[in-house]
Amino acid sequence: MAKVYFKEIESYSKTAEISKAAAELIRELVEREGISLEKFIPLKVHFGEKGNKTFIKSENFNGIIEYLKEREIESAFIETNVLYMGERTTKAKHMKLAEEHGFTQLPVIIADGENGEAYEAVEINKKHFEKCKIGREIAIQRQVIVLSHFKGHGLAGFGGAIKQLAMGCASRGGKLDQHANSKPKVNYFKCKACKICAANCPENAIIIGTKAKIDKNKCVGCAACQARCPYGAISNSWVQSLSKSFNERLAEYAYAAAKDKRNVYITFAFNITRGCDCEGHSMKPIAKDIGVFASTDPVAIDKACLDALDKASGKTVFKRGRNTLEYAEKIGLGSMEYELVQI
Ligand code: SF4
Ligand code: SF4
Repeated sequence: MAKVYFKEIESYSKTAEISKAAAELIRELVEREGISLEKFIPLKVHFGEKGNKTFIKSENFNGIIEYLKEREIESAFIETNVLYMGERTTKAKHMKLAEEHGFTQLPVIIADGENGEAYEAVEINKKHFEKCKIGREIAIQRQVIVLSHFKGHGLAGFGGAIKQLAMGCASRGGKLDQHANSKPKVNYFKCKACKICAANCPENAIIIGTKAKIDKNKCVGCAACQARCPYGAISNSWVQSLSKSFNERLAEYAYAAAKDKRNVYITFAFNITRGCDCEGHSMKPIAKDIGVFASTDPVAIDKACLDALDKASGKTVFKRGRNTLEYAEKIGLGSMEYELVQI
């Protein structure tokens, strides 16, 4: 049975205490479970969309950064570009926002390149995907410390370690696969035939005539064109995001992102909002702050967070998305059975 280590902290305002607890949890986890650490271990984070006020601030990770430094382990903050148009759509904008949001203690790596074109096709051969597009700089790692913010999510129901692996580690095209299961389309009314998309397509799949046209046979669905079109003329369908299979696709992508890695998962259950950190506006927490969790099992840690939230709230807070855990367990990502070890 998986173990989930937990330290209760009643308020997000206690930054120094949270940072210290996270370091203590990783130390306990590594020692008790005999985890060997690589010489370079990136920290998978979420920088928070511009305007979001409730993402987990980087000073909460100082204890973990110190822990790695003491062991002479090199590290970096690692992230991938988002699918939608915003301040994290391309590497240049993303790096700027990371700095503005205070992620300055370590170098920043945008794992899927400038526009999302850099990925590895990780083979999983599951129901929805044979291969998943994982940001190259994440795919090549043997170990990642996955730092997640536990909170709600409009489509997934809730977000924790699995969501951080699935959407968080997928390249832009991988996000497109999970959301839309299709390739992008050009809106001919908006297209100005400026050729920027064609210049940024790694597959030469865009033909420019009076308007841009995507050759579906050549297109690999990397979504780089969508990131670069200055007129918002390239988009994808979000219809698939509303189907039941969306949660299964998330679980399969999480499986791919974690495949063959000795990851450590640390989840911060503070600022528990209904929406996620990709939402560029301020939100009010909907539940009490809970504490910090650590595990080697992404399914167990998400289940432990849900259980702790329900216990603290006296009700089921996030009703949707629990099938993600069931499916993740079924495909071998982890276990919903866990033992909670209070530190
Ligand atoms: S970048 Fe946008 S506007 Fe320019 S050619 Fe491509 S689709 Fe049309
Ligand atoms: S046309 Fe296809 S392959 Fe080319 S940039 Fe767009 S999504 Fe990527």
